[in-house]
Amino acid sequence: MYVARQVPLEACGLLAGKNDQVEKVIFVRNQAQSPVRFVMDPYEQLEAFNWIESNNMDLLAIFHSHPAGPETASVTDIAEAAYEVVYVIWSLSGTIWKAHGFKIENGQVLDVPLLIHEE
Ligand SMILES: [Zn+2]
Repeated sequence: MYVARQVPLEACGLLAGKNDQVEKVIFVRNQAQSPVRFVMDPYEQLEAFNWIESNNMDLLAIFHSHPAGPETASVTDIAEAAYEVVYVIWSLSGTIWKAHGFKIENGQVLDVPLLIHEE
């Protein structure tokens, strides 16, 4: 699993699709190469946005991982949330990765339920 392979660094990327249904996961390099924060590589992010547009999909979510917790959005995540999308945070509890979805608007964090189909 990509997110697990990046440990101890945070992983990040985009989820694209249609009608709130994810069809494509795009991994983006964490330019910060940090265990406690992420900065999407701007070139890869632009390429991803272009791919999403040329495939007639919508950007549904931005995901990143918290290999050392917490399960919720950090102060930095809230401050840097720039898009009106769902923010998915993968966090490690013991050996199990869990995904939680949030909307972050005007400094407020709202839970968004996710339906995950294992492959
Ligand atoms: Zn975070």
